[in-house]
Amino acid sequence: MAEIRLRNLVKVYPGQQNPATDNVSLDVADGEFLVLLGPSGCGKTTLLRMVAGLELPTEGQVVIGNRDVTYLPPRDRRLSMVFQSYAVFPHKRVRDNIGFGLAMRHVPGDQIRAKVAWAADLLRLTDYLDRYPSQLSGGQRQRVAVARAIVVDADVLLMDEPLSNLDALLRLSFRAELKKLVGELGTTTLYVTHDQTEAMTLGDRVAVMRGGHLQQVGPPKELYNDPVNLFVAGFIGSPAMNFVSARIEDGKLRLPFGDVPIEGRLKERLAESNGSHRDVIAGVRPEHFEDARFAPEIERPLKFRVNVDVVEEMGSELYAFFSVKAGQVHARDLEELEEDAGAAALGHGSGETVAVARLSSESDARAGTQTELVLDTDKITVFAPDGRNLMRAES
Ligand code: ATP
Repeated sequence: MAEIRLRNLVKVYPGQQNPATDNVSLDVADGEFLVLLGPSGCGKTTLLRMVAGLELPTEGQVVIGNRDVTYLPPRDRRLSMVFQSYAVFPHKRVRDNIGFGLAMRHVPGDQIRAKVAWAADLLRLTDYLDRYPSQLSGGQRQRVAVARAIVVDADVLLMDEPLSNLDALLRLSFRAELKKLVGELGTTTLYVTHDQTEAMTLGDRVAVMRGGHLQQVGPPKELYNDPVNLFVAGFIGSPAMNFVSARIEDGKLRLPFGDVPIEGRLKERLAESNGSHRDVIAGVRPEHFEDARFAPEIERPLKFRVNVDVVEEMGSELYAFFSVKAGQVHARDLEELEEDAGAAALGHGSGETVAVARLSSESDARAGTQTELVLDTDKITVFAPDGRNLMRAES
Protein backbone atom coordinates (compact mmCIF):
# COMPACT_ATOMS: atom_id res chain seq x y z
CA MET A 1 0.00 0.00 0.00
CA ALA A 2 1.10 3.54 -0.57
CA GLU A 3 0.17 7.17 -0.57
CA ILE A 4 -0.26 9.13 -3.79
CA ARG A 5 1.19 12.59 -4.17
CA LEU A 6 0.27 14.68 -7.18
CA ARG A 7 2.32 17.82 -7.65
CA ASN A 8 1.34 20.73 -9.91
CA LEU A 9 -0.07 18.50 -12.61
CA VAL A 10 -0.73 20.31 -15.85
CA LYS A 11 -2.05 18.51 -18.92
CA VAL A 12 -2.48 20.28 -22.21
CA TYR A 13 -3.64 17.93 -24.95
CA PRO A 14 -2.03 18.46 -28.36
CA GLY A 15 -3.89 21.11 -30.34
CA GLN A 16 -5.79 22.33 -27.25
CA GLN A 17 -5.43 25.76 -25.69
CA ASN A 18 -7.01 25.22 -22.30
CA PRO A 19 -5.32 22.75 -20.01
CA ALA A 20 -7.46 19.73 -19.11
CA THR A 21 -5.89 19.90 -15.64
CA ASP A 22 -4.24 23.05 -14.43
CA ASN A 23 -1.68 22.91 -11.65
CA VAL A 24 -3.44 20.25 -9.62
CA SER A 25 -1.75 19.19 -6.38
CA LEU A 26 -3.40 16.55 -4.25
CA ASP A 27 -2.36 13.99 -1.64
CA VAL A 28 -4.16 10.72 -1.09
CA ALA A 29 -3.17 9.10 2.20
CA ASP A 30 -2.15 5.48 2.51
CA GLY A 31 -5.37 3.42 2.60
CA GLU A 32 -7.60 6.39 1.86
CA PHE A 33 -10.59 6.30 -0.50
CA LEU A 34 -10.53 9.59 -2.36
CA VAL A 35 -13.21 10.49 -4.89
CA LEU A 36 -12.63 12.94 -7.75
CA LEU A 37 -15.97 14.60 -8.44
CA GLY A 38 -17.01 17.15 -11.02
CA PRO A 39 -19.09 17.83 -14.09
CA SER A 40 -18.31 16.33 -17.46
CA GLY A 41 -15.09 17.65 -18.95
CA CYS A 42 -13.61 19.05 -15.72
CA GLY A 43 -10.48 16.90 -16.02
CA LYS A 44 -11.14 14.01 -13.62
CA THR A 45 -10.36 11.24 -16.07
CA THR A 46 -7.28 13.07 -17.31
CA LEU A 47 -5.98 13.27 -13.74
CA LEU A 48 -6.67 9.58 -13.15
CA ARG A 49 -5.01 8.62 -16.43
CA MET A 50 -1.87 10.53 -15.43
CA VAL A 51 -1.75 8.56 -12.18
CA ALA A 52 -2.27 5.36 -14.18
CA GLY A 53 0.48 6.21 -16.65
CA LEU A 54 -1.90 6.20 -19.60
CA GLU A 55 -1.31 9.92 -20.15
CA LEU A 56 1.94 11.86 -19.65
CA PRO A 57 1.64 15.20 -17.84
CA THR A 58 2.77 18.35 -19.62
CA GLU A 59 4.17 19.51 -16.27
CA GLY A 60 4.22 18.18 -12.74
CA GLN A 61 4.93 15.02 -10.86
CA VAL A 62 3.17 11.80 -9.79
CA VAL A 63 4.60 10.06 -6.73
CA ILE A 64 3.27 6.71 -5.48
CA GLY A 65 4.79 5.57 -2.20
CA ASN A 66 8.29 6.95 -2.33
CA ARG A 67 8.69 6.47 -6.06
CA ASP A 68 8.45 9.19 -8.67
CA VAL A 69 6.43 7.32 -11.29
CA THR A 70 5.69 10.30 -13.56
CA TYR A 71 7.38 8.72 -16.56
CA LEU A 72 7.06 5.02 -15.70
CA PRO A 73 4.81 2.84 -17.86
CA PRO A 74 1.55 1.65 -16.21
CA ARG A 75 2.84 -1.88 -15.54
CA ASP A 76 5.67 -0.55 -13.35
CA ARG A 77 3.41 1.54 -11.11
CA ARG A 78 1.99 -1.27 -8.95
CA LEU A 79 -1.58 -0.24 -9.52
CA SER A 80 -4.73 -1.81 -10.83
CA MET A 81 -7.66 -0.25 -12.58
CA VAL A 82 -11.37 -0.71 -13.02
CA PHE A 83 -12.63 1.49 -15.79
CA GLN A 84 -16.14 1.93 -17.09
CA SER A 85 -15.01 0.63 -20.46
CA TYR A 86 -12.65 -1.96 -18.99
CA ALA A 87 -14.84 -4.80 -20.11
CA VAL A 88 -14.24 -8.39 -19.12
CA PHE A 89 -13.02 -10.80 -21.80
CA PRO A 90 -16.12 -12.44 -23.29
CA HIS A 91 -14.30 -15.59 -24.45
CA LYS A 92 -12.72 -16.34 -21.06
CA ARG A 93 -14.45 -18.00 -18.14
CA VAL A 94 -14.90 -15.97 -14.97
CA ARG A 95 -11.97 -17.70 -13.25
CA ASP A 96 -9.63 -16.89 -16.15
CA ASN A 97 -10.88 -13.34 -16.29
CA ILE A 98 -10.15 -12.85 -12.61
CA GLY A 99 -6.76 -14.52 -12.83
CA PHE A 100 -5.75 -12.76 -16.03
CA GLY A 101 -3.44 -10.17 -14.44
CA LEU A 102 -1.70 -12.83 -12.38
CA ALA A 103 -1.20 -15.12 -15.39
CA MET A 104 0.30 -12.18 -17.30
CA ARG A 105 2.77 -11.77 -14.43
CA HIS A 106 3.65 -15.51 -14.66
CA VAL A 107 2.44 -16.23 -11.13
CA PRO A 108 2.44 -20.03 -10.49
CA GLY A 109 -0.89 -21.78 -11.14
CA ASP A 110 -1.60 -22.86 -7.55
CA GLN A 111 -1.14 -19.29 -6.32
CA ILE A 112 -3.45 -18.02 -9.04
CA ARG A 113 -6.11 -20.55 -8.04
CA ALA A 114 -5.87 -19.54 -4.38
CA LYS A 115 -6.09 -15.82 -5.19
CA VAL A 116 -9.01 -16.30 -7.57
CA ALA A 117 -10.87 -18.33 -4.93
CA TRP A 118 -10.24 -15.58 -2.37
CA ALA A 119 -11.49 -12.77 -4.64
CA ALA A 120 -14.46 -14.82 -5.86
CA ASP A 121 -15.45 -15.46 -2.27
CA LEU A 122 -15.19 -11.76 -1.38
CA LEU A 123 -17.25 -10.75 -4.40
CA ARG A 124 -19.77 -13.59 -4.19
CA LEU A 125 -18.68 -15.11 -7.51
CA THR A 126 -17.68 -18.59 -6.33
CA ASP A 127 -20.70 -20.23 -7.97
CA TYR A 128 -20.03 -18.52 -11.27
CA LEU A 129 -16.33 -19.27 -11.82
CA ASP A 130 -16.94 -21.59 -14.76
CA ARG A 131 -19.41 -19.35 -16.54
CA TYR A 132 -18.70 -17.00 -19.41
CA PRO A 133 -19.44 -13.27 -18.95
CA SER A 134 -22.44 -13.51 -21.29
CA GLN A 135 -24.03 -15.83 -18.70
CA LEU A 136 -23.76 -13.20 -15.94
CA SER A 137 -25.83 -10.18 -14.94
CA GLY A 138 -24.40 -6.67 -15.35
CA GLY A 139 -23.63 -6.45 -11.65
CA GLN A 140 -21.87 -9.82 -11.66
CA ARG A 141 -19.80 -8.79 -14.67
CA GLN A 142 -18.73 -5.64 -12.90
CA ARG A 143 -17.82 -7.70 -9.84
CA VAL A 144 -15.57 -9.80 -12.10
CA ALA A 145 -13.81 -6.60 -13.21
CA VAL A 146 -13.31 -5.60 -9.57
CA ALA A 147 -12.13 -9.10 -8.61
CA ARG A 148 -9.57 -8.98 -11.41
CA ALA A 149 -8.31 -5.63 -10.11
CA ILE A 150 -7.93 -6.71 -6.48
CA VAL A 151 -6.12 -10.04 -6.98
CA VAL A 152 -2.96 -8.35 -8.22
CA ASP A 153 -1.78 -6.96 -4.86
CA ALA A 154 -1.58 -3.43 -6.15
CA ASP A 155 -0.49 -0.47 -4.02
CA VAL A 156 -3.19 1.66 -5.55
CA LEU A 157 -6.64 1.01 -6.99
CA LEU A 158 -7.91 3.38 -9.69
CA MET A 159 -11.58 3.37 -10.67
CA ASP A 160 -13.25 5.48 -13.34
CA GLU A 161 -17.04 5.48 -13.07
CA PRO A 162 -17.13 1.71 -12.46
CA LEU A 163 -20.84 1.75 -11.63
CA SER A 164 -22.09 3.84 -14.51
CA ASN A 165 -23.20 0.91 -16.66
CA LEU A 166 -25.35 -0.58 -13.93
CA ASP A 167 -29.03 0.12 -13.44
CA ALA A 168 -30.11 2.22 -10.47
CA LEU A 169 -30.83 -0.64 -8.07
CA LEU A 170 -27.65 -2.55 -8.86
CA ARG A 171 -25.66 0.63 -8.53
CA LEU A 172 -26.95 1.08 -5.04
CA SER A 173 -26.19 -2.42 -3.83
CA PHE A 174 -22.85 -2.59 -5.62
CA ARG A 175 -21.84 0.78 -4.20
CA ALA A 176 -22.35 -0.52 -0.69
CA GLU A 177 -20.41 -3.71 -1.48
CA LEU A 178 -17.56 -1.77 -3.00
CA LYS A 179 -17.25 0.48 0.03
CA LYS A 180 -17.11 -2.48 2.39
CA LEU A 181 -14.64 -4.37 0.21
CA VAL A 182 -12.24 -1.48 -0.29
CA GLY A 183 -12.45 -0.67 3.42
CA GLU A 184 -11.47 -4.24 4.29
CA LEU A 185 -8.64 -4.36 1.77
CA GLY A 186 -7.32 -0.99 2.90
CA THR A 187 -5.95 -0.23 -0.57
CA THR A 188 -5.36 3.41 -1.43
CA THR A 189 -8.12 4.21 -3.90
CA LEU A 190 -8.71 7.02 -6.35
CA TYR A 191 -12.22 6.95 -7.75
CA VAL A 192 -13.71 9.16 -10.47
CA THR A 193 -17.39 10.02 -10.74
CA HIS A 194 -19.69 12.85 -11.76
CA ASP A 195 -22.38 11.50 -9.42
CA GLN A 196 -22.38 13.48 -6.20
CA THR A 197 -24.32 10.86 -4.24
CA GLU A 198 -21.76 8.23 -5.18
CA ALA A 199 -18.96 10.57 -4.15
CA MET A 200 -20.55 11.44 -0.82
CA THR A 201 -21.31 7.84 0.12
CA LEU A 202 -18.00 6.31 -0.97
CA GLY A 203 -15.30 8.85 -0.27
CA ASP A 204 -13.30 9.29 2.92
CA ARG A 205 -12.61 12.60 1.22
CA VAL A 206 -13.97 14.12 -1.97
CA ALA A 207 -12.05 16.42 -4.33
CA VAL A 208 -14.36 18.64 -6.36
CA MET A 209 -12.96 19.69 -9.75
CA ARG A 210 -14.11 22.36 -12.14
CA GLY A 211 -12.54 23.40 -15.41
CA GLY A 212 -9.25 21.60 -14.69
CA HIS A 213 -8.88 23.12 -11.22
CA LEU A 214 -9.47 21.71 -7.77
CA GLN A 215 -12.19 23.62 -5.97
CA GLN A 216 -12.28 21.95 -2.57
CA VAL A 217 -10.97 18.77 -1.00
CA GLY A 218 -12.47 17.46 2.22
CA PRO A 219 -14.64 14.89 3.96
CA PRO A 220 -18.16 14.69 2.46
CA LYS A 221 -19.76 16.41 5.46
CA GLU A 222 -17.39 19.34 5.26
CA LEU A 223 -18.17 19.91 1.58
CA TYR A 224 -21.87 19.72 2.35
CA ASN A 225 -21.86 21.97 5.40
CA ASP A 226 -19.05 24.32 4.55
CA PRO A 227 -18.65 24.60 0.77
CA VAL A 228 -16.01 27.08 -0.44
CA ASN A 229 -18.29 28.59 -3.06
CA LEU A 230 -21.62 28.48 -4.86
CA PHE A 231 -20.32 25.92 -7.33
CA VAL A 232 -19.51 23.32 -4.67
CA ALA A 233 -22.64 24.21 -2.68
CA GLY A 234 -24.84 23.73 -5.73
CA PHE A 235 -23.10 20.62 -7.03
CA ILE A 236 -23.35 18.70 -3.77
CA GLY A 237 -26.74 17.77 -2.32
CA SER A 238 -29.94 16.46 -3.84
CA PRO A 239 -32.31 18.21 -4.22
CA ALA A 240 -29.83 21.01 -4.71
CA MET A 241 -29.37 23.94 -2.35
CA ASN A 242 -31.78 26.83 -2.98
CA PHE A 243 -30.19 30.15 -3.90
CA VAL A 244 -31.97 33.47 -3.52
CA SER A 245 -30.77 37.03 -3.82
CA ALA A 246 -30.52 38.79 -0.47
CA ARG A 247 -29.11 41.91 1.11
CA ILE A 248 -27.23 42.66 4.29
CA GLU A 249 -28.61 45.89 5.73
CA ASP A 250 -28.97 47.43 9.20
CA GLY A 251 -27.77 44.31 10.99
CA LYS A 252 -30.25 42.15 9.14
CA LEU A 253 -30.12 39.65 6.36
CA ARG A 254 -33.02 40.64 4.12
CA LEU A 255 -34.34 37.50 2.44
CA PRO A 256 -37.35 37.16 0.12
CA PHE A 257 -38.96 35.15 2.97
CA GLY A 258 -38.48 37.95 5.51
CA ASP A 259 -35.76 39.68 7.50
CA VAL A 260 -33.39 37.74 9.69
CA PRO A 261 -31.47 39.53 12.47
CA ILE A 262 -27.77 38.79 12.13
CA GLU A 263 -27.34 36.87 15.36
CA GLY A 264 -26.04 33.50 16.47
CA ARG A 265 -24.14 31.58 13.83
CA LEU A 266 -24.77 34.21 11.17
CA LYS A 267 -23.19 36.84 13.40
CA GLU A 268 -20.23 34.65 14.32
CA ARG A 269 -19.49 33.68 10.77
CA LEU A 270 -20.41 36.90 9.00
CA ALA A 271 -18.38 39.19 11.19
CA GLU A 272 -16.67 40.71 8.18
CA SER A 273 -19.93 41.76 6.54
CA ASN A 274 -21.75 42.86 9.65
CA GLY A 275 -22.96 46.42 9.37
CA SER A 276 -21.91 46.95 5.79
CA HIS A 277 -24.68 47.15 3.21
CA ARG A 278 -24.21 44.70 0.44
CA ASP A 279 -25.95 42.43 -1.98
CA VAL A 280 -25.37 38.76 -1.35
CA ILE A 281 -26.74 35.35 -2.32
CA ALA A 282 -28.32 33.25 0.40
CA GLY A 283 -28.18 29.46 0.19
CA VAL A 284 -30.73 27.30 1.98
CA ARG A 285 -30.69 23.52 1.87
CA PRO A 286 -34.16 21.99 1.28
CA GLU A 287 -34.09 20.22 4.66
CA HIS A 288 -33.67 23.50 6.51
CA PHE A 289 -37.27 24.36 5.74
CA GLU A 290 -40.03 22.51 7.56
CA ASP A 291 -43.78 22.60 7.66
CA ALA A 292 -44.50 24.97 10.58
CA ARG A 293 -46.81 22.40 12.18
CA PHE A 294 -44.09 19.76 12.38
CA ALA A 295 -41.02 21.88 12.99
CA PRO A 296 -38.87 20.88 15.93
CA GLU A 297 -37.76 23.53 18.43
CA ILE A 298 -35.52 25.92 16.51
CA GLU A 299 -33.59 28.69 18.24
CA ARG A 300 -33.92 31.26 15.46
CA PRO A 301 -36.89 30.36 13.26
CA LEU A 302 -38.33 32.45 10.44
CA LYS A 303 -41.97 31.71 9.64
CA PHE A 304 -43.61 32.59 6.33
CA ARG A 305 -46.42 31.43 4.08
CA VAL A 306 -45.90 30.10 0.58
CA ASN A 307 -48.08 29.03 -2.31
CA VAL A 308 -47.07 25.48 -3.07
CA ASP A 309 -46.78 24.81 -6.83
CA VAL A 310 -45.80 21.15 -6.94
CA VAL A 311 -45.46 18.38 -4.36
CA GLU A 312 -43.37 15.26 -4.87
CA GLU A 313 -44.22 12.48 -2.42
CA MET A 314 -41.14 10.48 -1.57
CA GLY A 315 -42.76 8.22 1.02
CA SER A 316 -40.54 9.06 3.98
CA GLU A 317 -40.69 12.80 3.20
CA LEU A 318 -42.07 15.15 0.61
CA TYR A 319 -40.59 17.83 -1.58
CA ALA A 320 -42.66 20.99 -1.85
CA PHE A 321 -41.76 23.38 -4.67
CA PHE A 322 -42.79 26.99 -4.30
CA SER A 323 -42.09 30.27 -6.05
CA VAL A 324 -40.23 33.02 -4.28
CA LYS A 325 -40.40 36.63 -5.36
CA ALA A 326 -36.75 37.50 -5.54
CA GLY A 327 -34.40 39.34 -7.83
CA GLN A 328 -32.60 37.15 -10.29
CA VAL A 329 -29.45 35.53 -8.95
CA HIS A 330 -26.59 36.19 -11.32
CA ALA A 331 -23.48 34.19 -10.67
CA ARG A 332 -21.06 32.42 -12.97
CA ASP A 333 -20.93 29.45 -10.62
CA LEU A 334 -24.66 28.87 -10.98
CA GLU A 335 -24.64 29.27 -14.74
CA GLU A 336 -21.92 26.64 -14.98
CA LEU A 337 -23.95 24.30 -12.81
CA GLU A 338 -26.98 24.73 -14.99
CA GLU A 339 -24.97 24.02 -18.11
CA ASP A 340 -23.90 20.74 -16.60
CA ALA A 341 -26.69 18.32 -17.31
CA GLY A 342 -25.69 16.26 -14.28
CA ALA A 343 -26.59 19.01 -11.81
CA ALA A 344 -30.11 19.36 -10.50
CA ALA A 345 -32.01 22.29 -11.93
CA LEU A 346 -31.46 25.38 -9.87
CA GLY A 347 -34.36 27.75 -9.82
CA HIS A 348 -33.49 31.27 -10.76
CA GLY A 349 -35.45 33.08 -13.39
CA SER A 350 -36.81 36.50 -14.04
CA GLY A 351 -38.13 37.93 -10.79
CA GLU A 352 -39.20 34.55 -9.45
CA THR A 353 -37.09 31.79 -8.03
CA VAL A 354 -38.32 28.25 -7.58
CA ALA A 355 -37.34 26.85 -4.21
CA VAL A 356 -37.75 23.36 -2.84
CA ALA A 357 -38.42 22.40 0.76
CA ARG A 358 -37.96 18.91 2.14
CA LEU A 359 -40.85 18.41 4.53
CA SER A 360 -42.01 15.79 6.99
CA SER A 361 -44.16 13.11 5.34
CA GLU A 362 -46.93 14.16 7.74
CA SER A 363 -47.14 17.58 6.12
CA ASP A 364 -50.35 18.10 4.20
CA ALA A 365 -48.76 20.59 1.81
CA ARG A 366 -50.56 20.19 -1.51
CA ALA A 367 -50.08 21.77 -4.91
CA GLY A 368 -52.23 24.88 -5.25
CA THR A 369 -52.59 25.45 -1.48
CA GLN A 370 -50.88 27.74 1.00
CA THR A 371 -48.59 26.32 3.63
CA GLU A 372 -46.71 27.89 6.50
CA LEU A 373 -43.03 27.01 6.51
CA VAL A 374 -40.30 27.55 9.05
CA LEU A 375 -36.73 28.24 8.08
CA ASP A 376 -33.90 27.43 10.48
CA THR A 377 -31.99 30.66 10.00
CA ASP A 378 -28.88 29.34 11.76
CA LYS A 379 -28.41 27.04 8.78
CA ILE A 380 -28.36 29.72 6.08
CA THR A 381 -25.16 30.11 4.07
CA VAL A 382 -24.28 33.50 2.65
CA PHE A 383 -22.28 33.87 -0.56
CA ALA A 384 -20.70 36.92 -2.21
CA PRO A 385 -21.88 37.68 -5.76
CA ASP A 386 -18.53 36.32 -7.02
CA GLY A 387 -19.46 32.95 -5.49
CA ARG A 388 -17.27 32.93 -2.36
CA ASN A 389 -18.83 31.54 0.80
CA LEU A 390 -18.69 34.54 3.16
CA MET A 391 -19.15 32.31 6.19
CA ARG A 392 -15.85 30.47 5.87
CA ALA A 393 -12.98 31.65 8.01
CA GLU A 394 -10.67 32.41 5.09
CA SER A 395 -13.28 34.25 2.99
P1 ATP B 1 -16.22 13.03 -18.20
O1 ATP B 1 -16.90 12.90 -16.88
O2 ATP B 1 -17.12 13.53 -19.28
O3 ATP B 1 -15.42 11.85 -18.60
P2 ATP B 1 -13.83 14.37 -17.24
O4 ATP B 1 -14.02 15.29 -16.09
O5 ATP B 1 -13.30 13.03 -16.94
O6 ATP B 1 -15.18 14.26 -18.06
P3 ATP B 1 -11.66 14.62 -19.09
O7 ATP B 1 -12.03 13.43 -19.89
O8 ATP B 1 -10.47 14.53 -18.22
O9 ATP B 1 -12.89 15.14 -18.25
O10 ATP B 1 -11.48 15.84 -20.11
C1 ATP B 1 -11.01 17.11 -19.68
C2 ATP B 1 -10.91 18.03 -20.90
O11 ATP B 1 -9.90 17.56 -21.79
C3 ATP B 1 -12.17 18.08 -21.73
O12 ATP B 1 -12.34 19.40 -22.19
C4 ATP B 1 -11.90 17.14 -22.89
O13 ATP B 1 -12.60 17.54 -24.05
C5 ATP B 1 -10.41 17.27 -23.07
N1 ATP B 1 -9.79 16.04 -23.55
C6 ATP B 1 -9.84 14.82 -22.97
N2 ATP B 1 -9.14 13.90 -23.67
C7 ATP B 1 -8.62 14.56 -24.72
C8 ATP B 1 -7.79 14.18 -25.83
N3 ATP B 1 -7.33 12.93 -25.94
N4 ATP B 1 -7.46 15.13 -26.72
C9 ATP B 1 -7.89 16.40 -26.61
N5 ATP B 1 -8.68 16.83 -25.60
C10 ATP B 1 -9.03 15.93 -24.66
